[in-house]
Amino acid sequence: MASEEKSTAQISQRAELLDGARIADDIKREVAAEIAQLWRKPEQRPCLAAVRVGDDPASEVYVKNKIRACEEIGIRSEHHALPGSTTASELRELIGSLNARNEIDGILVQMPLPGGIDQAAIIETLNPAKDIDGFHPVNVGRLALGRPTFVPCTPAGIIELLTRSKIPIRGANACVVGRSQIVGRPMAQLLIQNDATVTICHSRTQDLKSVTTQADILVVAIGSPGLIRRDYIKSGATVIDVGMNKISDESVARALFGDEAERRLEIIKKRGYTLVGDVHPAEADEVAGRRTPVPGGVGLLTVAMLMRNTVKAAGKRRL
Ligand code: NDP
Repeated sequence: MASEEKSTAQISQRAELLDGARIADDIKREVAAEIAQLWRKPEQRPCLAAVRVGDDPASEVYVKNKIRACEEIGIRSEHHALPGSTTASELRELIGSLNARNEIDGILVQMPLPGGIDQAAIIETLNPAKDIDGFHPVNVGRLALGRPTFVPCTPAGIIELLTRSKIPIRGANACVVGRSQIVGRPMAQLLIQNDATVTICHSRTQDLKSVTTQADILVVAIGSPGLIRRDYIKSGATVIDVGMNKISDESVARALFGDEAERRLEIIKKRGYTLVGDVHPAEADEVAGRRTPVPGGVGLLTVAMLMRNTVKAAGKRRL
């Protein structure tokens, strides 16, 4: 009987949801206060230039959200929306002029760029002092050396989330699934700097579960809806779900969202899709101690950290 009671209690366990939205708002408020204190005249405030090439609808939404966040907190911004026919040399020319303009503090080139344009080569044309995404090899190298630099916004936001939620990183076993330049690799670097013991997994990792179930902190950035299921997660672990995947199939939504399925089905009816991370939310809730929801978790922090990097760039160049 006692064990029956225990198993019922285990099944009904629900992971605490980490509130990325609240922490992102806190960070934006702090950045806004810093701007108001350091640059009293609006025309002197930090300025971000966003560059977008082509008409990818997701990129359009991401850039709009970043510009809106700038407006909210008092960062000036410029939006350069170039046609899909733009050549690499035209793009280099625009970036060269933004590098040269003293009033531009941060330059953001929204990825992906259209086929034909070499993204890595374009990133190298940025002035590293204006590279607020932290993608330029100089900034990547500084991060690898543990020196002060612009840290890519998504992993930087995750460290803020863990720290402000008082989740111990020092000495924790951390596992990062995904080794991309923008999330997985810098995430692993930051966790090492914060004294975690870090394992990085990727598509060639053998027996992924045997590694992920060792993790006190599991960060997942794959791009595969709901891949991380209950048997990938250590009991009580903190699960950070970076993935942002669109799903429109109602039966898939029912299988993923448990109690939340009805609300998600409404969203699919209205919008045609709903967002899900790389972690199976209903199953993760049965074993994890805490997890980030999608949406409402990591994505909002990414934008908040971009704002912070822009102010940092302005401060370093102009104060
Ligand atoms: P990439 O496609 O660049 O990298 C994916 C990584 O996942 C690769 O390292 C790949 O391994 C690994 N991978 C793929 N399949 C598996 C698997 N079955 N098992 C283990 N590892 C696997 O993606 P990103 O890092 O750019 O993005 C990942 C996700 O995060 C996406 O859903 C994206 O939309 C989201 N994202 C969200 C952000 C936010 O602000 N919330 C910001 C950036 C991304 P390999 O290297 O071997 O190919």
